[in-house]
Amino acid sequence: MQRCDIDEIPHINRLVADEIIKYTTSSVLNRQRTSRERYFSRPLIGFADASDPLFERFKNIIGDFHLTPKEFFEAEFGRDSFAGGTVICWILPINKNVLLCNRAQTKFPSLEWAHTRYYGEDFNNALRSHIVSFLTDMGYRSVSSSLSSKWERIYSPYVGHASSWSERHAAYVAGLGTFSLSDGLITEKGIAHRCGSVITELKLKSTIRPYEGVYDHCLFYSSNTCGVCIKRCPAGAITSDGHNKDMCFQFIREVVMPAVNEEYAFTTPSCGLCQTRTPCETKIPNKKRK
Ligand code: SF4
Ligand code: SF4
Repeated sequence: MQRCDIDEIPHINRLVADEIIKYTTSSVLNRQRTSRERYFSRPLIGFADASDPLFERFKNIIGDFHLTPKEFFEAEFGRDSFAGGTVICWILPINKNVLLCNRAQTKFPSLEWAHTRYYGEDFNNALRSHIVSFLTDMGYRSVSSSLSSKWERIYSPYVGHASSWSERHAAYVAGLGTFSLSDGLITEKGIAHRCGSVITELKLKSTIRPYEGVYDHCLFYSSNTCGVCIKRCPAGAITSDGHNKDMCFQFIREVVMPAVNEEYAFTTPSCGLCQTRTPCETKIPNKKRK
């Protein structure tokens, strides 16, 4: 399938995309504490129809607790307030200098990676709020599901640690990437990123999903090769069966945090070794010729 290029989309989509890019490149919150660099480079942006049937299907795949854009919107603006709209999604690729620091790690995240997880997510939240305000000022009611009172962490006996909204799943619907053996989303700019979204009643043109399957970009599934993330994971949480969320969660809370919190002088759950020094780190990896 042909990818819908951001430069070829209609004027109003372009306006919104430009605002996301402008905020990301100019915000002081997107500046690293340990260098003059940004946490995130130029974002990728996608637009999903808020009524795309995939959002309803996630209730079967993830669980009933995973809410649709309509449910988030109506929780914010009242019953029957939703008459269609768009989920605006973005990918914030992690800056090269942060990736280089984490590439060298074999057990714990680098300070730069931990800062990106913590302060970078503060920036991501500011971006969510900014885009909600931007759209509201244009006259369109909007909400960030991740900042909404309906967002909650959930432990499901079927899928383990989860939440009422998955930014990665929304980005998948918006054509920004496909899933991986390690449970990440492999985008045009790779797997090392943070992602975000805003639900709005503004009806924008949807971007095309330039893939067929949910794992198209991961070499393990697409060509039965790679598995580098399996070896990168110090917790043994990634195997040929996929990502064990419980092992990952436990390793980060019980091993990583006690080891690095004191040294780094702040508290954050981070790791990301499976997202660095892998073929999918900064791009969609090339399939090997058989
Ligand atoms: S390292 Fe290889 S197997 Fe793991 S997610 Fe990336 S492409 Fe897939
Ligand atoms: S985040 Fe760390 S512990 Fe979790 S799967 Fe990736 S490498 Fe393993």
